[in-house]
Amino acid sequence: MKTKLAFDIADLKLLATHSSFERGSDYYDQGRVKKVINKQNIFEGKVKGTSIYDTRLIADGHALDFTCNCTYEMGGICKHCVAMGLAILDGEFEAGQEEANLNLQSVEIKPSQSHTYTFEEIFYLTKDELKTQFLHQQLTQNEQLKNEFIQYIDRRAKEHR
Ligand SMILES: [Zn+2]
Repeated sequence: MKTKLAFDIADLKLLATHSSFERGSDYYDQGRVKKVINKQNIFEGKVKGTSIYDTRLIADGHALDFTCNCTYEMGGICKHCVAMGLAILDGEFEAGQEEANLNLQSVEIKPSQSHTYTFEEIFYLTKDELKTQFLHQQLTQNEQLKNEFIQYIDRRAKEHR
């Protein structure tokens, strides 16, 4: 099922300066728009520029509210917003899970309760997204672990050949 979008390419052109639109368009073509998640009328994406920017669009009827955490202040929306807007128009977004929340509380672990969760319980109750985030963080910080990870994946890949 395709979500009916409340905007089109003309709206993006109106909201951005000519140069932002052109640059955003290049960004989109270069595949710089990473995952875009849609929840109701909110789209949240990450766009890779000099660093990775968090870009958000709230599409309320015909009002488009773009925000981005870059420092662009030259008028209109920034190129990251344009790039994400183009990705959305091409249907390149995923529906977010209900209550998707990168937060341990979303699995309702309440340490104060009488039942103490074991590591195994916490591990299996935790969303994959959160586990991946933690794993990535650890791997980035630990060279040795990173190498073990690469070897493990490599070994597994060979087993499946
Ligand atoms: Zn931006």
